Amino acid sequence: MTAQDAGVQEVDVIVVGGGPSGSTLASLVAMQDHRVLLLEKETFPRYQIGESLLPSTVHGVCRLIGVTDELARAGFTVKRGGTLRWGANPKPWTFLFSVSPKMAGSTSFAYQVERMKFDKILLDRARELGVRVREQCSVTDVLTAPDGRVHGVRYTGPDGAETEVHAKYVVDASGNRSRIHNKVGGTRKYSEFFRSLALFGYFEGGKRLPAPNSGNILSAAFESGWFWYIPLSDTLTSVGAVVARDMAHRIQGDPENALKTLIQECPEVSELLDGATRVTTGEYGQIRVRKDYSYHQTRFWRPGMVLVGDAACFVDPVFSSGVHLATYSALLAARSINSVLAGRIGEQAAFDEFERRYRRGYGPRAGAPGGNRPSEAAPPRLRRLEHS
Ligand SMILES: Cc1cc2nc3c(=O)[nH]c(=O)nc-3n(C[C@H](O)[C@H](O)[C@H](O)COP(=O)(O)OP(=O)(O)OC[C@H]3O[C@@H](n4cnc5c(N)ncnc54)[C@H](O)[C@@H]3O)c2cc1C
Repeated sequence: MTAQDAGVQEVDVIVVGGGPSGSTLASLVAMQDHRVLLLEKETFPRYQIGESLLPSTVHGVCRLIGVTDELARAGFTVKRGGTLRWGANPKPWTFLFSVSPKMAGSTSFAYQVERMKFDKILLDRARELGVRVREQCSVTDVLTAPDGRVHGVRYTGPDGAETEVHAKYVVDASGNRSRIHNKVGGTRKYSEFFRSLALFGYFEGGKRLPAPNSGNILSAAFESGWFWYIPLSDTLTSVGAVVARDMAHRIQGDPENALKTLIQECPEVSELLDGATRVTTGEYGQIRVRKDYSYHQTRFWRPGMVLVGDAACFVDPVFSSGVHLATYSALLAARSINSVLAGRIGEQAAFDEFERRYRRGYGPRAGAPGGNRPSEAAPPRLRRLEHS
């Protein structure tokens, strides 16, 4: 922290977390000349899962914040759609983002991204746009006025010192593992249906689907759940199994062996990985296990505070919608904050509208009103779970 920053005690907006939701929101608010402080507990680049993007992120939100060219230069795998071995059809089938292969428009693709690179591009862009980005700063609490309004945060800096900083708005973009979201009130409600575990690792030398589908995500259902197979480069592949929570005992203790066994159970994936080697060093070297339970907070905002991205809600990764919802919610929240700060609309109306739209984007799926419906497409084991 520079001497100049040490004196920062008040800004317009504090953003907690520098993932896609936090850096997008910070950029969009800074673009309206507001003073934005972004506090991130890690040092970027940092690892994150969530590598298969949708066109709305790449051509919508990323264009608005001005990183489209940078993404194109980064050399990410071009994703033209998805290939699925799912449901009753024993043969893999493919959907494209374009109307047809011969009528592909300029926005009919997304990317498969290494999140260490993608998230850093977005965070660096926020810096360029004037956001004060502070890494290794972990927010521990929000500051609340006697009338209940949130007006700042307390955080621990790189030197271990505690600091308080004040703002008109605090945005919680700290993802699914931080507890800051509790401060908005309400509760986090978990979906009864989408309560799965994800077990994943990285492989060098995995085969590719035949062109023109070589950049697609492959989602393959099998007896115990489903696999993702995401080509991150010509040689590096992200491979993960999503299985029911009652399989935790099979995974705990020896995740390496559990992943190997699950791969053998899924012919599509084991065939593609024939001859490939698992990466065992660096950030991609470990097998990770994540609960990917779907949830939503019953409130998305309170006076002075708003939740975006995984802090607010999360839907099972089968939809590849996490980064889309993170950046879309950031766009909606930035719009409300900018409108209120400009005096164009009252806070209640602006944030009620934010919450309504955000829930609509999330809602038809698990966990929201009308969600939790049985899915015809669920793989056998998940379908059984649904009826148990
Ligand atoms: C198994 C699995 C597979 C997935 N696959 C996909 C996929 O293929 N495609 C897709 O789009 N999405 C996928 N997702 C979802 C995706 O990972 C998330 O939706 C996305 O990362 C959310 O972005 P975010 O910015 O809200 O949070 P994050 O990316 O989690 O960023 C939050 C940031 O906040 C920081 N932070 C946390 N606490 C604090 C604190 N107290 N103070 C300061 N900083 C803090 C963290 O260090 C982090 O950098 C998947 C998720 C899972 C679990």
